[in-house]
Amino acid sequence: MSDSANKNTAAGVDNAPASNFLRNIIDSDLKKPEYQVRPWAGKPGGADVHEGAPADPAAIRLRFPPEPNGYLHVGHAKAICVNFGLAQEYGGACHMRFDDTNPEKESEEFADSILDAVSWLGFKWQNFGDDNLYYASDYFEFMYQAAEFLIQAGLAYVDEQNADDMRANRGTLNQAGVDSPFRNRPVAESLARFRAMRAGELPDGAAVLRAKIDMASPNMNMRDPAIYRIRRAFHHRTADDWCIYPMYTFAHPIEDALERITHSFCTLEFEDQRPFYDWLLGNLAAQHNAADGTVLQPLLSQPLPKQIEFARLNLSYVVTSKRKLQQLVTENKLSGWDDPRMPTIVGLRRRGYTPEAIQLFCARIGVSKSDSWIDYSVLEGALRDTLDPVAHRAVAVLDPIPLILDNVDDDWADQCSAPVHPHHPEWGTRQFTIGKRLWIEAEDFQENPEKKFFRLFPGNKVRLRYGYVIECTGCDKGEHGKVTAVHANVFLDSKSGTPGADTYKVKGNIHWVDSAHALEATVRLYDRLFTEEHPDAGGKNFMDSLNPKSLTEVKAYLEAGLKDTWSGTVYQFERHGYFVPDLKDHTLNSPVFNRTTTLKDSWSK
Ligand code: ATP
Ligand code: MG
Repeated sequence: MSDSANKNTAAGVDNAPASNFLRNIIDSDLKKPEYQVRPWAGKPGGADVHEGAPADPAAIRLRFPPEPNGYLHVGHAKAICVNFGLAQEYGGACHMRFDDTNPEKESEEFADSILDAVSWLGFKWQNFGDDNLYYASDYFEFMYQAAEFLIQAGLAYVDEQNADDMRANRGTLNQAGVDSPFRNRPVAESLARFRAMRAGELPDGAAVLRAKIDMASPNMNMRDPAIYRIRRAFHHRTADDWCIYPMYTFAHPIEDALERITHSFCTLEFEDQRPFYDWLLGNLAAQHNAADGTVLQPLLSQPLPKQIEFARLNLSYVVTSKRKLQQLVTENKLSGWDDPRMPTIVGLRRRGYTPEAIQLFCARIGVSKSDSWIDYSVLEGALRDTLDPVAHRAVAVLDPIPLILDNVDDDWADQCSAPVHPHHPEWGTRQFTIGKRLWIEAEDFQENPEKKFFRLFPGNKVRLRYGYVIECTGCDKGEHGKVTAVHANVFLDSKSGTPGADTYKVKGNIHWVDSAHALEATVRLYDRLFTEEHPDAGGKNFMDSLNPKSLTEVKAYLEAGLKDTWSGTVYQFERHGYFVPDLKDHTLNSPVFNRTTTLKDSWSK
């Protein structure tokens, strides 16, 4: 049993927090005066809502902001553990927010699955009496007002160049962009055109609202980025209320600010967006017009949220992109988002992963500022370390051949017992019968044994685990010399746990089930989903390296006591690994088990 597993609590991992740069940033911010007097009105809103509100009871406010356009995967689990985990640790709050500003690909089904996944992982968004479940689409009106505010401040304009010109005029990394002919149109004209966009007077794609920043900026994201586009699309929450939608880069900082997020953690690919994040919020919180000094009524109040980037999770032999996972599902390469081979939270769960295992994995990988690949064995290591202390032991024969004890009568039977868990005597014992006919693993018999093979071969003695010592006498063979049954004699005075049993010295110890009582079950054995270590790196098509042998289904015989198995119990089938009843397909009449993982690591290099 591993030490790390012993430190787990019901809520998850209770290891002393490894120092990381996110904690350092929070620690230093919390010492600043502006973080000690942050108002919080109990709900999201602009300056008018929060100004004068009571002090925020949460030390920090973080958020997990998925787009409801797919099922969450193990990469999101990292972001969830970072955000909810740090909020818990600091006595803060973490909001559950749907970044649902891109209507075409989003749905309620995905939104519901995301809530399930976060709860299942063990996290709550309710905090200090607030529900903290938010939808970016609830902020569409505010975002619209913010856009008008920018136009009025001379910081945004409606651009009606065609798409090709707009692209060409953006310039390149080595070449400054060219101002749009619409860039200096009068404020009143931009305002009128923006209102016409909202009113549905312009066709899709005819115009965009752009921030007016700097077409020569070395950062392409600062070359007058588009902030609103016209898109007649049905939204799963706001229906047809809007025909213009904010761009992600405009919407996200505003969502953070309305929710009074203190630290907005995101992955490294957003690093180049940070200057725009700060530009936008700074201008919406400005008290004076930068150009003419006139007094403004700021839309947002201080302190503004800060964007901080950390490295995304890349896991070997896995792809972590909702779009790519979607492709595996739509092209029927897998049985669905919850296929046990999927790195989605629902897939991992069906495979037998527990919240504790995923939390431990996230704690072990930590957070850093540079991208790297995490070896799949780290995920499985965390899994084994959390399952070993809790998994009930049982016996399963996955590749069965009959073993016949020739020196006992047909109706000979005896009761055997074994511990439910070797380190938890208080969990009691399992009872099972032994009889004349048993199932054993085909690989436990060799007619002509290779060197160092100590299991069954003619003339050799082994112990049937928790049962008797037997001596192999031979085998039956069918077509092509295939072994169809193994024969042995049993020593009736050798039963485990009885006086004198240990006078039998044997080198082999094999597992078995009694064929009269064994439970027949379907067992699904999994291998890695991709044969390439980095399936989608460097522009590779991940579909080309799908492992055709990622699933093997076998008919197996399980210890009879498993016939009443309920879902949620994890078993260690001795010698074979960890197994769970399949969440979808398992029934008492037709049992189906998934191998969660093998006992030993077969992944690390
Ligand atoms: P995908 O590309 O799979 O759709 P995404 O980043 O577009 O992922 P979002 O729904 O926007 O998905 O993600 C929600 C949060 O999860 C974001 O803050 C994002 O940075 C984080 N996240 C997504 N993938 C990973 C990953 N592999 N590692 C760490 N965090 C991730
Ligand atoms: Mg996305």
